[in-house]
Amino acid sequence: MKTDPDCIFCKIASHEIPSTVIFENDEVIAFDDLSPQAPVHTLVIPKGHYDDIADDVPAHVLAAMTEAIREVAKAKGLAEGYRVITNKGADAGQTVMHFHMHVLGGKTLGEGLV
Ligand code: C5P
Repeated sequence: MKTDPDCIFCKIASHEIPSTVIFENDEVIAFDDLSPQAPVHTLVIPKGHYDDIADDVPAHVLAAMTEAIREVAKAKGLAEGYRVITNKGADAGQTVMHFHMHVLGGKTLGEGLV
């Protein structure tokens, strides 16, 4: 598994930096965002380092991330719904260059996407 010793999310994935873990398996980890934008704001990341969704992310890792999103929704009680966002690159405002999906919920979210 490729990792980057300078990447903050790689450090979270390896537990070198502590986080509030919601779900974890061999491929992925889900942890609460440090600066939540909604009552529930959890990040799902692959344990391997990929820069963003356009990187060469294997299908089984994408599948594991999808499953982790469902597990987060269950753990957080998001029966009424939730939003999943990934930012890729400067135009989207990506700030951490390790692929991640935001899971947002716990309230009625705004109708717009941008
Ligand atoms: O999509 P983007 O790259 O902007 O999102 C990065 C997210 O990572 C932000 O929501 C930020 O609050 C979160 N973050 C975090 N813990 C860190 C660094 C960033 O939860 N140590």
